[in-house]
Amino acid sequence: NPVVGVLALQGDVREHLIALAVADATAREVRRPEELAEVDGLVIPGGESTTISKLASLFGLLEPLRTRIADGMPVYGTCAGLILLADKILDPRSGQETLGGIDMIVRRNAFGRQNESFETGVDIEGVEGGPVEGVFIRAPWVESVGAQVEVLAEHGGHIVAVRQDNALATSFHPELTGDHRVHAMFVDMVRAAS
Ligand code: GLN
Repeated sequence: NPVVGVLALQGDVREHLIALAVADATAREVRRPEELAEVDGLVIPGGESTTISKLASLFGLLEPLRTRIADGMPVYGTCAGLILLADKILDPRSGQETLGGIDMIVRRNAFGRQNESFETGVDIEGVEGGPVEGVFIRAPWVESVGAQVEVLAEHGGHIVAVRQDNALATSFHPELTGDHRVHAMFVDMVRAAS
């Protein structure tokens, strides 16, 4: 099985570890550069993107992450993870860095506040068997994408899932639903790359 890490600085790490194991990956927490070096692919969880970026900087992970992503390591970001994979954030908080990897501009908290969180079926290009239950929690949307970016899903006229080469990102949280088809698609990307 491919070894897939979950960036374990903040956010819903456990849920991703379980989803990856169900999708036939060997899942591991990644907190240090040495741990990053040992994985074939990486999930960046949901949580709070500013906090994750500050902790990544503190743990000496910003540059190693940028380098591995630029070198083609498969990476999948959910929600806050999607924000971290954006080349540009429309409304960044002070000190908020991104890793980049996807030529897109994202809008944080675009779907509203915590109490406006919602669930809805989302049809995702490349995921067979009907819509995935999308859990949107203070979710970002993708404002615009460059020519290299494939749009995989939209909701309400807004882009909510994208892929550019080795990088996959969703505004929502498939790890919270027990339906692990998106993780299976990502593990296939990792297998294809390794
Ligand atoms: N709004 C959060 C952020 O800006 C993301 C929320 C989430 O990951 N559920 O990072």
